[in-house]
Amino acid sequence: MHRIPPRATPAGLEALTDLALDLRWTWNHAVDSVWRQVDAELWDATHNPWIVLQNVPQARLEQLTEDAGFREGLATAAGDRQEYLDKPGLCASLWPVDMPDGVAFFSMEFGLSEALPVYAGGLGVLAGDYLKTASDLGVPMTGIGLLYQEGYFRQTIDATGTQHELFPNNDPASLPIQPSLDADGGWLEVTVPLPGRPLRLRVWQAQVGRAELYLLDGNHVLNTAADRGITAKLYGSGTELRLLQEVVLGIGGWSLLAALDKQNVVAHLNEGHAALAVVERARRYMHEHSVSFRDAWWATRAGNVFTTHTAVAAGFDAFAPALVAKYARDLLADCGLSLHDLLALGRVDPSDENEPFNMTYLAMRGCAQVSAVSRLHGEVSRGLFARLYPRWPIAEVPVRHVTNGVHVPSWDSVPADALWTATCGKRRWLGNLACLEAAIAECDDTALWNLAARQRADLVRYVRERLGWQLGLGAEGESNAAVQGVLDPNVLTLGMARRFAEYKRMNLLLHEPHRLVTLLTDPAHPMQLIVSGKAHPDDIEGKRQVQAWVAFAQRPEVAGRVVFLEDYDLALAQRLVQGVDAWLNTPRRPWEACGTSGMKTLVNGGLNVSTLDGWWAEAYDDAYGWAIDGKGGDPGDAESLYRLLENEIVPCFYERDAHGVPTRWVRRMRASMSRLAPRFSSNRMLLDYLQGFYLPAARALRRREQQHELPSWASEVVSHWHEARLGDVEVVLDGHTWRFRAQAYLGGLQLDWVKAELYADERDGMPRQCVPMQAGAPISGATHGYEFEAALPATRPAADYTVRLRPWHEHAFLPAELPLVLWQR
Ligand SMILES: *Cc1c(COP(=O)(O)O)cnc(C)c1O
Repeated sequence: MHRIPPRATPAGLEALTDLALDLRWTWNHAVDSVWRQVDAELWDATHNPWIVLQNVPQARLEQLTEDAGFREGLATAAGDRQEYLDKPGLCASLWPVDMPDGVAFFSMEFGLSEALPVYAGGLGVLAGDYLKTASDLGVPMTGIGLLYQEGYFRQTIDATGTQHELFPNNDPASLPIQPSLDADGGWLEVTVPLPGRPLRLRVWQAQVGRAELYLLDGNHVLNTAADRGITAKLYGSGTELRLLQEVVLGIGGWSLLAALDKQNVVAHLNEGHAALAVVERARRYMHEHSVSFRDAWWATRAGNVFTTHTAVAAGFDAFAPALVAKYARDLLADCGLSLHDLLALGRVDPSDENEPFNMTYLAMRGCAQVSAVSRLHGEVSRGLFARLYPRWPIAEVPVRHVTNGVHVPSWDSVPADALWTATCGKRRWLGNLACLEAAIAECDDTALWNLAARQRADLVRYVRERLGWQLGLGAEGESNAAVQGVLDPNVLTLGMARRFAEYKRMNLLLHEPHRLVTLLTDPAHPMQLIVSGKAHPDDIEGKRQVQAWVAFAQRPEVAGRVVFLEDYDLALAQRLVQGVDAWLNTPRRPWEACGTSGMKTLVNGGLNVSTLDGWWAEAYDDAYGWAIDGKGGDPGDAESLYRLLENEIVPCFYERDAHGVPTRWVRRMRASMSRLAPRFSSNRMLLDYLQGFYLPAARALRRREQQHELPSWASEVVSHWHEARLGDVEVVLDGHTWRFRAQAYLGGLQLDWVKAELYADERDGMPRQCVPMQAGAPISGATHGYEFEAALPATRPAADYTVRLRPWHEHAFLPAELPLVLWQR
């Protein structure tokens, strides 16, 4: 990346610019002391090296050139960074040498740091964590997103508990990003054709260690005033604006890859917003290879991976056909794809001209591989997408899952980092995680309990300080009497922070306020609670819940035991997950696709208390956590939560041995840290994607560039499919073996274009089964009629099995790419 220094750095201090512009500082704290030395006051206030570098007086920089100790520290930091950049990552050994250009990760939001506020919540934080992990493991990854003039809104709360939203301007010059330059040294820009005018997008670049992030920005002086607003706001309101943002991300994003000469990548769509990228990818391939759009679609689809993050169909973005029509003409100008064909890609029923254009369906059709974000969400998603795969059993709807994870070095506390370093070494999150579990399992009780105590005390101090600012007491706030009595470093501390979306039920704990009061004010075994979160500006109910919590926190009887902290963001999230004893999560099952905030507490020894939704449905075990399970329904879940707190969580925390250690609690900490932290790290997640999705995608992409038989195979199969027919099925019991024989008449289908199978659903405790049948002799006297046979142990009734015929090609992703199937009647 070509750097335009924010200011002239004196000779010898040039490395400061590189360090400030590499967002590795968001998780690598070895350089913090360098910045603190530059300007302690600026550093303490912002923890943002870029701000420090921009604002420090020139005289101070000149002074530092004379400071040998500083220069040495700077050289060490720069050397450490260079070593990190140069060392091949773990993935060099897993990533074949003939791999194409890497992975392009498309996302509407990226949550890397509060210093770059282009995120709103979990989706963005996940994307940020993912880029950081790609950097650590050496996966060549390019993030593609949007630069918003107004990012994540800031929240303030007035005396009546009402939330107000502030939209401070993201001044690009004060963000840790740089203009991306083209080959001629000019500012790189890409254009997207809108009706009657091009939309010009400026390209910005952020460095995330070894990974890079490109942000597209429509605020270009040559755009119309209205168009300059397209990227003004994250998730701007109005469907047309939303569509335009998705055009920018998908079409603009792919055009950027073309400008960077990176079209050979595996494209990973983080949620359906970027789905148009698959259309633009095929369009450009079509021109570059002089093939039809359909052939290009087949050639490129293998390189596309889609991750769905939504648990309800209402969460999918869908647009009115007329609105799509308004933009499609220009976007599709030269690809031979009619408006009807485009709309069909985003519809369940292509012939229904009234059906909206659904971006998620487009992503499903345009990506050969699809994943959900937790095991439960995989099941839910297969149900949601079943209509796109008619006559396929729901279990075979082609959606797998990779459970999300978190970038652990971004979420561990200083003392947790020290403990893990002492136990597992410094490079523990850069390599194989296999040995971590056993190492942490050896930690002794006292070390773990001291860790919890130290972290809790740090959090209490931070909360008081932050509350001081919130109450307008300024820098001296911490010593103010009003905050001195808030929270107690020796009391069981629970945290609960997230968006106030309805399904997250932030008010569940307020179901019976007197029970909560009793828990908080128990004279011997009290509990304390920190709550934080923003409601969407248009969400009346969410705002009402914020107000209810603020009002509850103001009750005199719980004074000092409940705190509502304003303006939840990445920085606050970090502090909370580093200091709480237990993290509460109360989503309504199965609405939480995954949820990641609870994972962030794992490395720090925080325990989870949650409904069995999202990741917790697969992670929960009594050895380290608690499950809220009121059999659905708010009152039942609230009752379950109160009982857990009253009968299990509070007693467990206060039951101490002769040395004052709560041994049962500490045992849970150890189990949670050792068994869950590696498993729900984004290291595991990225390796799952690499091995399960990226490598097969890259292999198929390369192959399809050389071998072009798939589109004609598919059209032959489609045009002859209706001719196929299954005839008689015969089954005999031979000892303990079922011998099945089925007759199939293939019409114009060739024998090696199809596969016959015996299928049995899960039933009476027997698992789902799919047994391939062998093609035997032609049926005498029949044209294209064949016998198919299979023998299998007679462990369940023969009537459980049904014969079916499906298209088959060893190099196609099936049934995703051709979802036909014919069942025995
Ligand atoms: C982790 C995180 C989220 C997502 O948390 P969930 O539990 O998945 O809702 C949202 N916002 C911030 C600032 C976060 O750090």
